[in-house]
Amino acid sequence: MDQMINVVQPSLGERELAAVREVFASNWVGRGPRTAAFEEAFARHLGVGPEHVTATNSCSSATFVAADLLGVGPGDEVVLPTVSFVAAGNAIAGRGARPVFCDVDEATLNPTVADVEAVLTERTKAVIILHYGGRPGAVAEIAELCRDRGIRLVEDAALAIASTVDGRACGTFGDMGLWSFDHAKMVVTVDGGMLYVRDPELAAQASKIAYLGLEQRAAGSTGLFHSGYDQALRSPTRWWDYDVVSFTGRSTTNDVLSAIGLVQLSRLAEFVARRREVARAYDEGLSDVAGLRLPPPLPAGQTSSYFMYWVQFEDDIRDRVARDLLERGIYTTFRYPLMHQVAAYGSRAVLPRAEAAADRTLLLPIHQALSDADVDRVITEVRSCVAARPAPAAF
Ligand SMILES: *Cc1c(COP(=O)(O)O)cnc(C)c1O
Repeated sequence: MDQMINVVQPSLGERELAAVREVFASNWVGRGPRTAAFEEAFARHLGVGPEHVTATNSCSSATFVAADLLGVGPGDEVVLPTVSFVAAGNAIAGRGARPVFCDVDEATLNPTVADVEAVLTERTKAVIILHYGGRPGAVAEIAELCRDRGIRLVEDAALAIASTVDGRACGTFGDMGLWSFDHAKMVVTVDGGMLYVRDPELAAQASKIAYLGLEQRAAGSTGLFHSGYDQALRSPTRWWDYDVVSFTGRSTTNDVLSAIGLVQLSRLAEFVARRREVARAYDEGLSDVAGLRLPPPLPAGQTSSYFMYWVQFEDDIRDRVARDLLERGIYTTFRYPLMHQVAAYGSRAVLPRAEAAADRTLLLPIHQALSDADVDRVITEVRSCVAARPAPAAF
């Protein structure tokens, strides 16, 4: 059989290894200068000041830091699209607040502003949206709605690292933004995340919450810089004293991972360009398949990270096509199982457009390492699997 084509895949190579080797040679592998440089580079990528961003050990842990900053708790509601990652639901429910799920657009799987507005109540403290597949969606309109109502907006921009609306980075429209650098994302540090916080005071809190709530007492403290030697030189008396400002865990990253992130971030534009080519090839190669719907064109002024490419089936054949493709060495999947149907969250919502989309949507392989031959093979096999009719039942 031909080699398996994966739905996502990292591109890590010699440059990343060389960067790791340099960190090893420096004898400082903890959080230090490379992490500061990664935060600065990421802030520049977003078009914000470095004091607004904090590198974390995952996007999920950044979500929990964001929930602490929001101060959500019992009696509060937090709205999120039912097509969301489980970290957001857990960060809300784990603090005793109630996650309230809204419906999404059937074609884009992003919530519309009306979907969000429909479930706001006087108890709504925050809204957490994501940009499905890397498409910005109605983020600008939803941010305006939240501002008008005095509700905080958090953007889970894990899939939208290079997505923009009118030149502005997704993740910076609301009060906070979150990114992931895990093994399956576009910029991969193996595990890692980033948190953007608009309010400067809250942003300063974020870095403390991310490190056990520690606040060093020494004057001129470098805060999260863990290099004790560096700290001691700055403040040569009792540099070891600290206070505790929150009872939180440790969500910080280290210079080994940040060094990988710096190299990966420098390659991002090239990754996005290749993914755009793959998406265009699917658009062209699959546009005439009967019974198959492709993602709608991007609205004017928006750019996508092309993190996901999906097709939707008019007939009830999604699961069969996925199985047939797997047999032919093409791995596909669906993200994200609907949160309002996860029993633990206790939702009784009925969200018909999301439910219809979740039964008909299939994510095709898209990543920067796909060759033209891989892309052609996916197109050929998808066409063939859709055309295949199940054998008539035997009597
Ligand atoms: C991957 C992902 C996360 C979680 O990221 P981790 O870094 O693995 O914790 C959060 N949200 C979305 C939309 C994701 O795809």
